[in-house]
Amino acid sequence: MTVVAIIGGGFTGALTAWHLAWQTLDVQIIVIEPRDRLGAGLAYSTADPAHRINVPASRMTMRTDIADGLHRWIEAQGIALSPNSVTAEGALFPQRGVVADYVAQALAPDLAQGRIRHLRTRATGLTRTDRFRLTLENGTALEADHVVIATSHPPPALPASLAALRDDPRLIADPSDAAAITAAALTRRVMVLGTGLTSADVVASLDRQGFRGAILALSRRGQRSRGHAVGHPESDADFAVTPARTALWLLRRVRAEVARDAAHGLPWQAALDNVRRDGPAIWAALPQAERARLVHRLRVWWDVHRFRIAPQVEAVLDHLIAQDRLRIRAGHLIGIERDKAGLIVTWTPKGRTARREVFDRVILTTGPAHDRIIAGSPVLASAAIDGLLRADALGLGLDVTDGCRAVGATGAPVPDLWIAGPLARGHVGELMGIPEVTAHAELVASRVADAIAKDRPHTRTA
Ligand SMILES: Cc1cc2nc3c(=O)[nH]c(=O)nc-3n(C[C@H](O)[C@H](O)[C@H](O)COP(=O)(O)OP(=O)(O)OC[C@H]3O[C@@H](n4cnc5c(N)ncnc54)[C@H](O)[C@@H]3O)c2cc1C
Repeated sequence: MTVVAIIGGGFTGALTAWHLAWQTLDVQIIVIEPRDRLGAGLAYSTADPAHRINVPASRMTMRTDIADGLHRWIEAQGIALSPNSVTAEGALFPQRGVVADYVAQALAPDLAQGRIRHLRTRATGLTRTDRFRLTLENGTALEADHVVIATSHPPPALPASLAALRDDPRLIADPSDAAAITAAALTRRVMVLGTGLTSADVVASLDRQGFRGAILALSRRGQRSRGHAVGHPESDADFAVTPARTALWLLRRVRAEVARDAAHGLPWQAALDNVRRDGPAIWAALPQAERARLVHRLRVWWDVHRFRIAPQVEAVLDHLIAQDRLRIRAGHLIGIERDKAGLIVTWTPKGRTARREVFDRVILTTGPAHDRIIAGSPVLASAAIDGLLRADALGLGLDVTDGCRAVGATGAPVPDLWIAGPLARGHVGELMGIPEVTAHAELVASRVADAIAKDRPHTRTA
């Protein structure tokens, strides 16, 4: 039997396995994932009720031919959602764990029948002779004919300037550490480094757990993730027609479309949704130097407009800001010193002089260490040493061909080694939210199924 090993069983790995199981016969699919459940990954393994999906359920799905798959599933299953999960306009923003339940239920029959196997361990090495050889943290090894890499988000890394505080429990380097956030909720002075979606998660979580103090959220530009506008008509802005060839041209065009929409009463979100829809065409049209310019100059703005927060979380932030208990500021962190009274933070507000403030906790929400994708992962580092993969030119993920194959150290595609999900975003452009990740997992599954069927045509089912 042909063996396909998928490294990483978050949303991407689970969906790739599921679509591959549909499209093939006589193929053993093995997902290597240390978490208990396939499909949960970093985003959907949270049990915190304050953590909600950040796009409505009507736009999240496991299959692209049913765009509102999650919404339908919630209704069909009669899933009991907390009362404030539904907005006045009827949009569902359930707690994020619901997504993991949705994926788990879909995969259950394949897992029960053994078409998909879940190995609850971590891959530590990947090399190739005739077949791929994976070494696993549990001391065993595995041979496979095809390997799909779907490890996506590396763990957050502590900045070198904070290394001396590594063992201080008052510095929370991993915001998914639920116990540490619960302990922080009992304090009065919290600093959050980062002002994006994870920062919003942390603030909502502290508030839910009865935090009574004040929070300073700091980032270089002090931009918080924006909210949704639901129930508006679609914009007819089309960025795929004669796509922009420079980042500046793209920016001007987006601004012009937003202004044109505004004149017709549409919110800015309408045109931005179309930028996201047209993402692949926009990205494909940009020369590499312009992609780099876009990543360096515009990404921070794109991120805060594109990664929106659930209305429930937005309401918590607005309430705390109105009470003067949440300050979101632009500035630079200079350093943090330990003191009996707390952590003394020296920071410079943008355009002003440095100041010192004492906090009981400092929570890092600057996100996964995407700049250490290979170095931070033993399995990817081992594959890179073997020449099987390399980072993409923009440092967003791994180098990938049009056909989703890994590009090796020599620049040539590596047969039967595939990259699925956000790790391929340097090639695809926007590839982080569920709609794009689902489409990519489907694509990778069909490429793998086609490759297997070349030698064994009877294995292809659809
Ligand atoms: C906090 C958060 C919230 C989000 N919320 C939304 C949302 O509401 N809506 C939306 O559309 N998008 C959302 N996203 C974006 C998107 O859904 C995720 O980026 C997407 O789920 C990516 O899933 P993944 O499986 O590719 O990556 P991950 O979730 O990172 O999963 C990768 C998996 O690989 C495993 N792994 C890593 N290394 C190894 C190894 N060596 N061996 C075996 N396994 C390994 C990890 O344990 C992990 O489970 C969110 C993202 C984050 C981070």
